[in-house]
Amino acid sequence: MSAIIIHGGAGNWRESQLAAARRALPIILQSCWTILQNGASAVDVVVEAVRQLEDATCFNAGHGSVENDEQQPEMDAIVINGQDISFGAVAGLSRIGNPVLLANTVRTSSPHSFLIAAGAERFAMEQGFNLCSPEALLTPQQNALSTPASETEKPETEKPDTEKYGVSDTVGACVLDNLGNFASALSTGGTRGKKKGRVGDVPVIGSGAYASNKLGAVAATGRGEDIMRSILAYSVALTLPGTISTEQACQQGIEQLENICGKSEIGLICLNIKGNIGWHFNTKAMPGGHISSSSPAPSIFGC
Ligand code: ASP
Repeated sequence: MSAIIIHGGAGNWRESQLAAARRALPIILQSCWTILQNGASAVDVVVEAVRQLEDATCFNAGHGSVENDEQQPEMDAIVINGQDISFGAVAGLSRIGNPVLLANTVRTSSPHSFLIAAGAERFAMEQGFNLCSPEALLTPQQNALSTPASETEKPETEKPDTEKYGVSDTVGACVLDNLGNFASALSTGGTRGKKKGRVGDVPVIGSGAYASNKLGAVAATGRGEDIMRSILAYSVALTLPGTISTEQACQQGIEQLENICGKSEIGLICLNIKGNIGWHFNTKAMPGGHISSSSPAPSIFGC
């Protein structure tokens, strides 16, 4: 049994961005499925899936990240290998095109688990990563979303501000390989207009993502401050071996978060040890997709 589930962020998506997500997701799923079927491990495939999502400019991660309050990208990412629960995380990056690759390199090639900002970028250079200019990561498609609609594209309602377009569009993935290994990864530009230095749930293990071969894999998206308060991904992972369905596990996770934090904007994807796939979100959209041995063609949801 093997399976992949990916998401492009829970939020209040604009139609033109959703159309781009619908085009990108099946291509990414198919190429990652081929790699998984050729024997790649869950952790290698989860990194590759998120790398491709970072390169697709319709998502708020890597190329296509949103601006902070100083008009700069500041990106966070994490990779978790469920086999040994080793993880690598990075935060506050402005000059790395694929933060997920750096997060995985922190996991595999440093004595640490979590590096931030200038120190993370220095480690990247030591490891042979090329640094880019921050501006190269800011695409007009993402950052035009906070400008008035008349200057870009007509919105569906008359509220052309950042609130209308939601918190984000972080990307995430969960993978189960044929050997029973799980992995999860996330990457984000964070929330639009965030204060410089703000770090959300994404690089915090157990908040935005978790993976363990004994439980399964979970990846979250939405308001990071609430996800951290409820330790969302770990809480949901603990329910995966139980009798509830994967869909119910996600739904219950969101309900419990809202019991703690009040109304929020949240999405979840997960995989359990039977290879069952689940997702749930309470926003307008959460473009995502899955592919598995029981259904080996890309299937898209949430958009
Ligand atoms: N959770 C991310 C953050 O707060 C945003 C998102 O999921 O889109 O940084």
